Amino acid sequence: MPNPFAHLYVHIPFCVAKCAYCAFYSEPAEERRAERFLAALEREIEAVAGRLAPQTIYIGGGTPTSLTAEQLERLLTHLRACIPNLESRVTSRDFEWTVETNPATLTSEKARLLRLLGVNRVSVGAQALDDALLERLGRVHTVAMIHETVETLRTAGFENLNLDFIFAIPGQTVAQWGQTLRRAIAMRPQHLSTYELTYEDDTPLLRRLEEEGAARTDEETTLAMYELLLAVTAEGGFAQYEVSNFALPGRECRHNLNYWRGGEYVGIGPSASGLVDGWRYKNVSNSDAYIQRIEHGQAPVECAERLTPRARAGELAAFALRMNEGIAAAAFERQTGFELDQLWARELADLTAQGLIEWDGERLRLTARGRLIADRVAESFIIVDKTEVGSHHPAYGH
Ligand code: SF4
Repeated sequence: MPNPFAHLYVHIPFCVAKCAYCAFYSEPAEERRAERFLAALEREIEAVAGRLAPQTIYIGGGTPTSLTAEQLERLLTHLRACIPNLESRVTSRDFEWTVETNPATLTSEKARLLRLLGVNRVSVGAQALDDALLERLGRVHTVAMIHETVETLRTAGFENLNLDFIFAIPGQTVAQWGQTLRRAIAMRPQHLSTYELTYEDDTPLLRRLEEEGAARTDEETTLAMYELLLAVTAEGGFAQYEVSNFALPGRECRHNLNYWRGGEYVGIGPSASGLVDGWRYKNVSNSDAYIQRIEHGQAPVECAERLTPRARAGELAAFALRMNEGIAAAAFERQTGFELDQLWARELADLTAQGLIEWDGERLRLTARGRLIADRVAESFIIVDKTEVGSHHPAYGH
């Protein structure tokens, strides 16, 4: 029996409405459609359950709480029934089960149900604490609804909450961003995730900016916002542990830490990806195609590839560099079989000279400046090699 997997991601593709900046795959939540989707998802759960011994489960989307209370109950109950020993695991202190929510979709009934069935962490897509900015982002909720959601979750017994925010929104000032962060911390979350707004092609946000002739937030303002983010979160007792993530002591997201440390995981649902037995796979994005494949007894995989050891090492370095702990050279060599300066001697020298990384032969880390352009620094570590391609679902067994 191969090793079981400790991390499971479940993707729910529905949202109440499309946000103006969003390029993720999502569809409007319709009850009858969701029923058929859930039946397919249940079959995928059954197909992978035997290989799971999860320490973390993350139900993301889309907006998982756009499902009705009955549908959420059906999904969570099925997970508990199919995954060996999940019933007993959910009560263990180090088990992390996260569900993402959007403030417009969480009722107290749903919150109580999630808690009762074992969910112990909720990630709330707040995004801004200003109604005009929320409107600009095309969010379907107000600031008051964010406060109500946090209150509802606390009343339901949740003690581990993340709030997601976006900064560098056109029209947002540095002072406004600072105020948002202080008000967010006053809501006493255990974790904050903050992302610079990215402008995706062909989104309503971009079209509106073009129509209005409005400018995107410039680089200088964005950097000032990021620096303010570091200062205000530190004052609030939050430690940065990844480029975009901040936590109170012991409240880092263990599910995401596994991604950044290059660990394997199973992903199910349309457009979910996974890393299993060295194979990286991605499910079909379209939920009709997903449902049809499963109803016809086929795996819903769109593509699967096995990276070469060098390419895998490159991917691992690019992810791990995002964490404040950086990359320990000895652990990296144990995990990949490569020494860091064997693969990237020139890059290490160049990036050090540019003041973007610190490298003392034992540990590699981004500098504060490097963290500001982490994606660009990480690209230097990507290795493109010929890959082995398959069309099977690695977690189904083959
Ligand atoms: S809630 Fe999230 S996934 Fe859904 S449309 Fe908005 S940004 Fe996209």
